[in-house]
Amino acid sequence: MIIRTATQRADLLEAGRRLGAVLEALETYVAPGMSVEELDTLAEKLIRDGGDEPAFLGYTPGGANRAYPATLCVSVNEEVVHGIPTENPRTLLAGDIVSLDLGLTHNGIIVDSAITVAVGKTDENSEKLMRATKAALYTGIAAARVGGRVGDISHAIEQSLAKTGFSVVEILGGHAVGDAVHEEPFIPNVGHKGTGEELEEGLVLALEPIANAGRSAVVLAPDGYTFLTKDGKRSAHFEHTILIEKGGTTIVTRRPSEKF
Ligand code: MG
Ligand code: MG
Repeated sequence: MIIRTATQRADLLEAGRRLGAVLEALETYVAPGMSVEELDTLAEKLIRDGGDEPAFLGYTPGGANRAYPATLCVSVNEEVVHGIPTENPRTLLAGDIVSLDLGLTHNGIIVDSAITVAVGKTDENSEKLMRATKAALYTGIAAARVGGRVGDISHAIEQSLAKTGFSVVEILGGHAVGDAVHEEPFIPNVGHKGTGEELEEGLVLALEPIANAGRSAVVLAPDGYTFLTKDGKRSAHFEHTILIEKGGTTIVTRRPSEKF
């Protein structure tokens, strides 16, 4: 969406503040023995307690043959994105890494954000993978400016990950957001500076680098949603909704304790 009024802007920022708070609260429940289904139940409760609606529950993305059946996407280890916590019951184990991807609707405005966190203590390479993916998100955000192009963001994310030895998942990426979960333009995580659609004043985007510890190839599970790494190695995912304005770019879904 494009933010055109002060009311829309205030609603967007409030939506993001709420989502950031819910995601940070969910993070505190990530521990060995926690089930992914419990995380979904909690996510839905926290959103509804705040008077808002889950944005993913019942949403059918382009290309899908059924609506998404949960509030939260929970993707563990080799699961890349869109793991369905209500259909793939799984208990988190110490050393796992888990991506929590969540959308909510506040006053009609949709925001989208994801974090990947360790369950207890994980191995050094997984820590590196998560740090690199998060750094790529911030690098992408820093490349977003009014008058720039989609390719500036894509290039920044690609370059940030290129020097790490991890691979970028090319078929998945960011998107505009606000009126719907997924809006045009698509924001690839690889690309060339100065190419693609121009970034206009008030544009709301969800940027979401996804990186794999091994090869970049992913496969879609029979459930039609869960992407998995083809080589079975781990994957990480970070996402923020941002607002691009002449005065600068705002991280809409910033979490309360997040420093950037
Ligand atoms: Mg998301
Ligand atoms: Mg998204």
